[in-house]
Amino acid sequence: MNRKAERLQVHSLYGGRCAYCGTPIEIQEMQVDHYLPLRRRKKNGLERDSIDNKKPACRSCNHYKRGLLPENFRKVLKKLHLRIAELYHIRVARSYDMISIKPFDGQFYFEKISSISAEEIPALTVQTKVDP
Ligand SMILES: [Zn+2]
Repeated sequence: MNRKAERLQVHSLYGGRCAYCGTPIEIQEMQVDHYLPLRRRKKNGLERDSIDNKKPACRSCNHYKRGLLPENFRKVLKKLHLRIAELYHIRVARSYDMISIKPFDGQFYFEKISSISAEEIPALTVQTKVDP
C-alpha cells in the first residue's frame, strides 16, 4: 500500500476524527500516531510499522502522547486538570468564574465509539480488512 492510500485508510478509521480526543481533522493536518510506540513494538517482536498500529491523531494529541504507551498517555491526561489549575492565568480566570476545568473522563474517543454502532456516528467508516 502506498503512503497516500495508507493515510486515507488511517484517516477513515474513526470518521475523520482524532482517535484520542475526537476532534475532526482534515487529512492534510492528520498525524499518523503509532499506537504502541515503535521501540515497544520492536521489543515485543511485533512488526514495527504495520497499519494495525496506526491511528489518526490531531497535532495536539500526537505531540502530547509522544512516545508514551497508551496507558501512560491516559495517566498523563488524568492529571492534566491538576497541572493546568496551577497556572497563573487559569487561577485568575477561575477566580472570576470565567472558566471551569473538568478532569479527563478516562476514555479515548476510539474507545467511546467502539461501544456504539457505526450507524450512530455520521461519516464513520470502519475498515476491518487490511490489504497486505
Ligand atoms: Zn486529538
